[in-house]
Amino acid sequence: MAKCPLCENTDLQATHFENILPVMECRSCGGSWLRANEYTLWLKSQKPGTFDESKAVEASERLPVVESNKAAICPDCGHFLRKYRVGSKLVFQLDRCNNCNGVWLDRNEWESLKLADLHDEINQIFTQPWQKRIQDEIAAGKLDMMYMKKFGEDDYKKVKEIRKWIWENANRSPLLAFLLDKDPYLD
Ligand SMILES: [Zn+2]
Ligand SMILES: [Zn+2]
Repeated sequence: MAKCPLCENTDLQATHFENILPVMECRSCGGSWLRANEYTLWLKSQKPGTFDESKAVEASERLPVVESNKAAICPDCGHFLRKYRVGSKLVFQLDRCNNCNGVWLDRNEWESLKLADLHDEINQIFTQPWQKRIQDEIAAGKLDMMYMKKFGEDDYKKVKEIRKWIWENANRSPLLAFLLDKDPYLD
């Protein structure tokens, strides 16, 4: 009998997402184990939509996800599950077994993914471009905060406008030279 990767001694029970997608549910923590073959089969009946992270953020605020920090083990093959961020603004992560490709969803994670129209594209999350995009967004967000702190809100807004205007201007190089020159009127 497959055990819950988080509760360990609790047996997983067979149930369904959306009435047709078979999953193994833990009645103790409310998480569900989604097997790769079942998901692939179900996907064939789906039309992928467009991912909207803000909807997932909204959903996860409404349906709180309790993220576990435990080193969880795959209920099917015993490999460690790896954590994958879903988006840069989303608080929760998905746990995945990279050996059998099964995915552990904590309570409410499926619902949040569904509201973001990502439940039918879960495999995307584990790809390198998806993870890279999240890392880039997180890094950009940190720099944005840093500039904001350094310049203050008004000056930061102003300098961003000036920056945009310069970089979109055909005279970009002379404009930058003009700005950097301590006294552009001195011959
Ligand atoms: Zn559990
Ligand atoms: Zn596995």
